[in-house]
Amino acid sequence: MKKISVIIPCWNEEEALPIYYNKMCEMMEQMTEVKFELLFVDDGSTDDTLIFLRGLNKKDPRCRFFSFSRNFGKEAAIYAGLKNVQGGDFVAIMDVDMQDPPELLPEMYYILQSEGYDCVGAKRSNRVGEPRIRSYLSEKFYKVINRISKIEIVRGARDYRVFNMKVMNAVIEMGEYNRFSKGLFEWVGFRTKWLEYDNVERSAGDTKWTIWKLFLYSLEGITSFSAVPLSFAAVTGLLFCVVSFFMVLFIVVRTLIWGDPVSGWPSLVCIIFLVGGIQLFCTGILGHYLSKIYMETKHRPIFIMKESSDEL
Ligand code: UDP
Ligand code: MG
Repeated sequence: MKKISVIIPCWNEEEALPIYYNKMCEMMEQMTEVKFELLFVDDGSTDDTLIFLRGLNKKDPRCRFFSFSRNFGKEAAIYAGLKNVQGGDFVAIMDVDMQDPPELLPEMYYILQSEGYDCVGAKRSNRVGEPRIRSYLSEKFYKVINRISKIEIVRGARDYRVFNMKVMNAVIEMGEYNRFSKGLFEWVGFRTKWLEYDNVERSAGDTKWTIWKLFLYSLEGITSFSAVPLSFAAVTGLLFCVVSFFMVLFIVVRTLIWGDPVSGWPSLVCIIFLVGGIQLFCTGILGHYLSKIYMETKHRPIFIMKESSDEL
C-alpha cells in the first residue's frame, strides 16, 4: 500500500480547518488504495487553530500537527512539513482554504503512479474572483522573473503539488533561509506535469496576503534566483558615460563657436536629480542582495517548534 503525506500550512485558519478536514475525509475514503497522513503545520496562529489540531490528533491518528513559536511564514511551514515526513512514497503540499481543491488528488496520484512523472503540480487557468490589481501585478511578476532568471516559473502555478521522495529530498537539501518554493521546485528539476483547474474562492476566512506582503515575496523570488538586477548599475553606468562623452563634446564645440553665456541651470538640476536617483536606486539593489547574504550567513533556524503531536 502506498503512502501519501499531505503537508498543510495553517495560519489562523480555525474557520477553514473543519471544512478542509471533512473534505479530506471524503477523499481519503475514496482513495482506498492509499494510506494517508496529514501533517498540519500551525504557523503561530493566534486563534483556536492549535486547539482544533490537538483535538484532531486525538480523534484521528492520521492527523499529526506541528506548532511554531510564532508566525514564520508559509515557506517555513512547508519546510517544517517536509522535514517531518516519516517514510512513505509521496508528499503533497496543500492550502487549507480549499483553493487547492482536494478533488484533484486522485488524478494527481494516478499520473504519478502511471505516467512516470516525479511531480504533479496544479495551476489556475484563470484568476476569477481575485482583485484586478493583484492579477495584474502577478502577471508582471511572472514576466520579470522568467525573463531575468534561469528558472521558468509556470504562470498561475500554485504551491499545490504531489511529488515523490526524490523530489522531496532534493528540496530539503536546499536549506536556504530565503525560501521561495515555486523557484526551489523548478530549480531541482525532475519531470513535472501541470494540471489546470478553474480558480476557486476561499472557503472561509480571509487571505493572509496583502499587496505589500506579495510585493516583498516577489522580490524574494527574483533576488533568490537572479543576479541580473545587480548588473543594472553597471549597464546604466556605462550608458551614462557614453552619453556624457557626447555632451562634453557638444558643450566644448558650442562654447568655441558661440562663447559661454551662463544658462542651463534648470537642465543641470534635472541631470543631478536623475543621476542621484539612479545611484541611490543601484545602491538600494546592492543593499537588498547584501541583506539577503547577511540573513543567510547568520544561519538562523528557518522555524522554531513550540509543540508537536510527536511529543505526545
Ligand atoms: N499561511 C501560513 N503562514 C502565513 C501565511 C499563510 O501558513 O504566514 C497559509 C494559510 O493558512 C493557507 C496558505 O498558507 O493555508 C495560503 O494562504 P492564503 O490562502 O492566505 O493565500 P492565497 O491563497 O490568498 O494566496
Ligand atoms: Mg488561499
